[in-house]
Amino acid sequence: RLDGAWAERWLRESARVIAEHREELIDLDRAIGDGDHGENMDRGFKAIVAKLDDESPDSVAAALKMAAMMLMSKVGGAAGPLYGTAYLRASTAVADSDALDGQAVAAMLAAGRDGIVARGKAQSGDKTMVDAWTPAAEAAVTADPADGVAALVAAADAAETGAEATKPLVARKGRASYLGERSAGHLDPGAVSSALILRAAVTAAE
Ligand code: ADP
Ligand code: MG
Ligand code: MG
Repeated sequence: RLDGAWAERWLRESARVIAEHREELIDLDRAIGDGDHGENMDRGFKAIVAKLDDESPDSVAAALKMAAMMLMSKVGGAAGPLYGTAYLRASTAVADSDALDGQAVAAMLAAGRDGIVARGKAQSGDKTMVDAWTPAAEAAVTADPADGVAALVAAADAAETGAEATKPLVARKGRASYLGERSAGHLDPGAVSSALILRAAVTAAE
């Protein structure tokens, strides 16, 4: 059941994988940015876990809203407001769901993606986290609308493929765009962290 308890597990698992990949995210951001993405994300998700230890959210929407607030206030940089907006819009999209089916998962991911695009104005192929979120949102729609876990699996697979596909791209948004052609040949750190978080949603459902 993709309910509030699942959402808490998702956030805790996200914190675990972000901490596990902290150095990798730092290295990726050092190559094409300022080297803080792993540290920023780890700080934000540690704050989320501290909040969860205090009080368990009673719905998916409440969990996502709490995460949005923590990410906006603790992460900073480009990624904090972008992820914060994604979680806030995702929360609103599932406000009426006790447990998510495939259709609700697809709506949640589309809302998250739309929030990132509204905030950051990046298009697909600009070498940003949008290149993980857009394929994820599109893949979730192709799953059985009754099967929430199937939608999460499709989304995580597509996000990983999308993140890998950022490697040859030239960045057109964010700090990496300052490098121009020299940004090609490196994975986008935000796309990689997004794929990790979307995979964590699957792990939390198993
Ligand atoms: P900063 O660049 O401020 O140091 P982070 O390093 O935490 O912030 O995050 C960088 C990531 O943010 C990038 O890898 C990219 O995925 C994402 N990003 C930056 N600008 C944008 C944007 N305009 N739209 C979408 N994603 C963006
Ligand atoms: Mg950075
Ligand atoms: Mg920074």
